Amino acid sequence: MKPAAFAYHRASSVRDAVDLLGELADDDPKILAGGQSLVAMMNYRMSRPGHLVDITHVPGLAGIRRDGAGLRIGALTTHRAVEKADLGPDFRVLSDAMRWVGHLPIRTRGTVGGSIAHADATAEWCLLAVLLDAAVVCEGPAGRREIPARGFFLGPFTTALDADEVIVEIVFGRPAPRAAVTEYADRRGDFAIVAAGVDLDTGDVVLGGVGTTPVLVEDAGTQDEIADALELRDEPGVPASYRRDLVRTLVGRAREAASRL
Ligand SMILES: Cc1cc2nc3c(=O)[nH]c(=O)nc-3n(C[C@H](O)[C@H](O)[C@H](O)COP(=O)(O)OP(=O)(O)OC[C@H]3O[C@@H](n4cnc5c(N)ncnc54)[C@H](O)[C@@H]3O)c2cc1C
Repeated sequence: MKPAAFAYHRASSVRDAVDLLGELADDDPKILAGGQSLVAMMNYRMSRPGHLVDITHVPGLAGIRRDGAGLRIGALTTHRAVEKADLGPDFRVLSDAMRWVGHLPIRTRGTVGGSIAHADATAEWCLLAVLLDAAVVCEGPAGRREIPARGFFLGPFTTALDADEVIVEIVFGRPAPRAAVTEYADRRGDFAIVAAGVDLDTGDVVLGGVGTTPVLVEDAGTQDEIADALELRDEPGVPASYRRDLVRTLVGRAREAASRL
């Protein structure tokens, strides 16, 4: 499969990328990061951007650092880099969850910022950002702003990011030493049918695969109460009752795993 024709631009800085997105706005420009979602969609002609703005050579966008605000993960940091990082007990849930993201080659190229921007409702990064109440830092023509992850995901593959904004980093401000994520997919490496994240300290549960965005259940009750309250539709090959059973089981498993930490 081949993508439709597009023009390629290599951004030298975040400001350069923002300027390019503005200048090319009439011809559907898209940021290119790891390419693990975008290029596949272009090859299937599900996405036909007129321009790709490659940010992979922008210095300073990859890396993990701590400061007074918490843990900062640069947008170009790969899933694999997080998987291999020693984030300590406060944020180990992030590195532990990476084993659920696709296969090794995907984790080696795919980026944290790309996952958050792509906003697949079953993506582990979207679930983690909501569970840990993270902030998405982005830069646009008017400068930088922080968008709370809990208000960032608006619908299927739709976010609060403006078309001329670039995600710069994700800030995890709240330690989550008793948080865990688990999920079920038919084959290892596939996107989850249902993913569940829990934080025993806040009582919050976040579910992937049960709605068009990650579903946050604050101060959640029992796993039966959580599962029974969900509005689920039958889908080809995945009846609502099956998905509900998965929620019940996975929330229980994630809580067990978190209680052992
Ligand atoms: C076979 C397969 C299995 C996979 N399994 C999983 C899985 O189990 N779980 C999972 O979470 N993901 C999975 N993925 C997707 C993978 O995690 C991607 O890495 C991720 O979705 C997108 O990151 P990327 O860096 O590749 O972004 P790209 O594909 O380059 O971009 C994706 C979208 O985000 C935009 N974008 C990228 N970076 C930025 C930025 N900094 N600012 C603004 N917009 C930006 C792009 O314009 C594009 O619209 C899978 C992919 C494949 C091919």
